[in-house]
Amino acid sequence: MSHIILEARDVRYRYPRGREAIGGISFHFRRGEKIALVGPNGAGKSTLLQMFNGMIRPDSGTMLFDNEPIRYDTASLRQLRRRVGFVLQNADRQIIAPTVYQDVAFGPTNLGYDEAGVKEAVSTALRQVGLVGFERRPPHQLSGGEKKRVAIAGVLAMDPDVLVFDEPTSGLDPSGSEDLMELLDELNHDGKTIVISTHDVELAYPWADRAILLADGQIIREDVPDVAFGNTRYVRMAHLSVPTLLELSAELEKRGFVIPERKPRSVLDMIHIIESHLHGSGSHLTPGTITVCNVDEGNTATLSTWVNAHPDLVVGAMGTRAKQCAVQEQIALEFTYGVIDKCILRALRGRDSLILTPGSMVGRVAVRVEAYCKESGNTISVVNLNTANQPPITGSTNEEMKEE
Ligand code: ADP
Repeated sequence: MSHIILEARDVRYRYPRGREAIGGISFHFRRGEKIALVGPNGAGKSTLLQMFNGMIRPDSGTMLFDNEPIRYDTASLRQLRRRVGFVLQNADRQIIAPTVYQDVAFGPTNLGYDEAGVKEAVSTALRQVGLVGFERRPPHQLSGGEKKRVAIAGVLAMDPDVLVFDEPTSGLDPSGSEDLMELLDELNHDGKTIVISTHDVELAYPWADRAILLADGQIIREDVPDVAFGNTRYVRMAHLSVPTLLELSAELEKRGFVIPERKPRSVLDMIHIIESHLHGSGSHLTPGTITVCNVDEGNTATLSTWVNAHPDLVVGAMGTRAKQCAVQEQIALEFTYGVIDKCILRALRGRDSLILTPGSMVGRVAVRVEAYCKESGNTISVVNLNTANQPPITGSTNEEMKEE
């Protein structure tokens, strides 16, 4: 078990002239976790989040970062805020400089980095959020999703351990929200601990490692999402609703379907339950293949030729760099979120797919597919397009890739 990075011990807080917003809360987050604080408006989510980087100091109780009680003198807070980055709900309130570069440079400059250090930090952060080339743009001319990314880059430029997002998808359209949640996954994959607040149970349920249900300044329930959201009494107490997948799985169970102990958290999990009921375990079709292409490696210029030579293939992209590569190579993307699961679903129907991914996420495809196959009794091959001497995926033009 990785170590505890943030902890609250019986913290309470009352706004001046307000009622008690946080009423004696304790919890701890481990390094690398994805945590969702879920509750209705006024539950105390924002107040609690602001305690994580010392913006709000509890009236009583203790907040700890890295096992040390948070200290509230200027120097300690400065240090804490470098390690716990906070992304506000409203990006307009976070972005202050006239250009993207200057805005993202603000944090590292304040930390006293030299010019080369600032440049390096800004370019790394902009690359992480997919905004390379936006350096000179005035932030007010950007879309809502792009502004959010500038705000995130500003926080990332200080290379924090924990990223805290207050209602990260508020104001974004569905596709912008999906892109943002995928970015959070990518940052988590790079080692960041991520905490979000939301009232959207459908968003929190499949995403979080752990969910904290909050209402009236109290923790109602804290657990893995299928347990936290699985008890209707707690969900009602928190003025929330049961996620659709859980509601559906409860109904299927009443109709004689076998629901695994770990409740379905994706369409893929749900399809597995239904297919097993209908056909027993394992697919009745010969599964398709999932080909993976690492866009950070080798020459991607011939990729579109290869894709065009496989007209039955659909393409998905994981992560910002892979999506940019697809735009560059004019490859139409079918899947941009939940890509691995969608490609597994397609493979189960006997169809092939290609996943474009940055190097850091190549392994994730194999791990997820392997875990699924183990659980379901299916066999789905994952082929790495970058590796020489791969067997051809549809018996044809893999030769072109080998010549690279
Ligand atoms: P959430 O983020 O879950 O919507 P908040 O943390 O914003 O909840 O608010 C929790 C409680 O504190 C609410 O009752 C809210 O009205 C109150 N509150 C929030 N901000 C202030 C403030 N600046 N002054 C007084 N009361 C506040």
